[in-house]
This record gives sequence, structure tokens and C-alpha cells, in this order.
Amino acid sequence: MLLLNSINQQIVKETNRTSILKLIRDRKEITIKEIAKELEISIPTVKSNVNELIDKGIVKEFGVAKSSGGRKPVIIRFIPESRFSFGINISPKKISISLINLNAKILVEESIQLNTDSPFEKELDKIKNVIESIVFKNNIDRKKVLGIGFSLPGIVDEENLILESAPNINVKGFNFKHYENYFGFPIYIENEANASAIGESELGTYSQYNNIVFISITEGIGTGIIIQNHLYKSINKRAGEFGHMRITDDNIKCNCGRTGCWEMYVSETALIESYNKKSEHEIKSVNQLISLVECKEIIACDVFDNYLRYLAIGIENIILTLAPEKIIIGGKISKYHGIYEEILVEYLNKFTLYPIEKSIINYSVLKGKASILGAGLLPIYQLINTGAATL
Ligand SMILES: [Zn+2]
Repeated sequence: MLLLNSINQQIVKETNRTSILKLIRDRKEITIKEIAKELEISIPTVKSNVNELIDKGIVKEFGVAKSSGGRKPVIIRFIPESRFSFGINISPKKISISLINLNAKILVEESIQLNTDSPFEKELDKIKNVIESIVFKNNIDRKKVLGIGFSLPGIVDEENLILESAPNINVKGFNFKHYENYFGFPIYIENEANASAIGESELGTYSQYNNIVFISITEGIGTGIIIQNHLYKSINKRAGEFGHMRITDDNIKCNCGRTGCWEMYVSETALIESYNKKSEHEIKSVNQLISLVECKEIIACDVFDNYLRYLAIGIENIILTLAPEKIIIGGKISKYHGIYEEILVEYLNKFTLYPIEKSIINYSVLKGKASILGAGLLPIYQLINTGAATL
């Protein structure tokens, strides 16, 4: 019984510390009295927790607030740059590496090419060099770096730090655990679309919704599913592979070895390639294709219309399966939603079993940074969710 009481006390202490840290981070500035009132925790408990956070350098006392009588209350301020995190996004063409602060603000960002022909270990060497140079150039105290969060284009076992399968970058069964000592920082990994869903639900404008599907349209297609405010991955971590749902009998072969996968019709690569197949004039980017659509170039308009039709087929399947409150489309294509959102909703309603309202379909507000921010948030979540106990 005594042991149970002591375990319970420990849990209450940790919960208090986490709630206090979250509240100070959300408010940026707050007094002890306000924290106690809002969280219904006694003032001495708040004070002792805040003192621990002051000792760790995560918050500090900063001036005094107006008093309604008696002593002026001290303001406690959150220090976003008391700790840092690295967010890394690996996509088939590019590796982006960013240093972020505790408010998930990107302080430095650098990109390097990914060479899918070289062993993945070699690519990690390149990443390590960039991280070391960012730490050196910005005079970052290594003790203040919470860890490195990787956003990866494949199936990820985040608990055992294994990238199980990522055909788009030629990697299978890669264990990141062996690289924690090599990098000198704790490592966290997550699937790219899941990382984007985390970034979008934490930092975007959709934080009030509990059931979200994020569709990441890049060189491939990834989907991140949030159900009742939690990432849904299922026991084998394979939930949300909508990019490989078969939507047609056509024989375009996918990287997974099958044919008819949604990814082969709605990824950026698919959009660019389907234009290049039909036109003598070669394009290299989604931006170029959109410019041609805006100029009403016939082939581009035809290709893009077909693209939207396939996009709608997949989205409708997702809506039928999960009935999310919001679908968020991310990737370069999301920037141009103004020119196609009406047509997409029209196509959705052409096929659908139930009417689909325009407000269900939304577009990323993080300007292509959702996955890198979500990745960088992984070590920060660890800090916040333990109330900085691990420091
Ligand atoms: Zn496939």
C-alpha cells in the first residue's frame, strides 16, 4: 500500500509538472497565482515545480505583474531558446536539416542532395556533418540539444527506431538505434506523413479538431491519421498506406512492385511525368505545370484535370473509410489550391456515396514545413510530456 501511495504521488507530481510546463509554454508569460488558479494546483506545489524549471533554465522570473493589492506577483516567462532540437526530413531527392527552438521556430535550415544509389550510412555521414557545422557556427551548447527527429518516407517502427521499408529511397530494415552514439544525441523517427500530421495539428490552424487525415503529396504519397487526437498507426505501424491503395486496373508499375497504386497517379512525380509523356516541351516541377494551367495550355489543363479526378477518387475512399472531420492536403500542390479546390470538390461529389462539404478539404498552412517541424517536435514532446524530468 505504501509503495502504491508513493507511486501515485510520483504520478501526480509528474502530471503536475507536465501541465505546468505546457501552460507556461502556451502562455509565454504567466504568474504563479494564475498557474495555480488555472490548473487547480496549490501555490506551494506550483512554486516548487517552477523553481525546478528555473534551475533547468527553461523558464525564468521576468519582472512583476500589476497587483490587485498586496505584493506584486512575479511573472514567469518561458525561454524558447533554452533548448534546441534538430528536425530532419528525408525525401527521395533531398534531405532538409533544421535547427528549431522549443516553440518549433526554425532557426537554421540547410538542404543537401540525397543519393539513393549510395549506402544509407553514407547519407547519414553527410547529415552528421551538416549538424556539426550548424552546432559549431551557431555556437550551440550540445547539452542543450534535446535530440534529432527524423521524418522518413516509409514504414517506421518508432519505438525500436527501425525504418522498416522505404522503397522510394531504397532503404529496408535500417536501425537508427546504432546511430545515437554516432550523432551524440537521442534519435526519434517518424513516418513523413505522420510527422506532417503532428506538425499540422500542433502548429497549424487545425488544433481544435480531433480526427484529421493529412495527405502528403510529394515525390510519393503519404497519409497521417489522427483519431481522437492520437496518431493512429495500428499495432504493426502500417496503418495509413493509402498511397498504395489500388484505384485502377491500369498497368503503371509502382515502387512497391504492384500496379494501380494511388501514388502513381497523384504524386508530384506522377503529375510531372504525365505531362511530359504528352508534351514535347519538358517540365521539371509542379510550379511549371501550374503556370501552364494558369495560361490555359491545353495539354497541361487536360493532364491536371485527370490528376484532380484521381485525387478525388483516393480522397473519397479515405472519407468513406475514416470519415475524418478534416482532410489536410500538404505538399507543393497545396499552395495552389485556389485554382482547383472547387473542381476537386465537384469531382468528389460526382463519385461519392454521401455529399462531401467543401469545408472538409483543407490545405496545409505550414508552407511545406509540416514534416520537418513535426520531426523537430518529437524530441520536444519528450521534454514537455515528462515535464522536463529527464533533463
Ligand atoms: Zn504501390
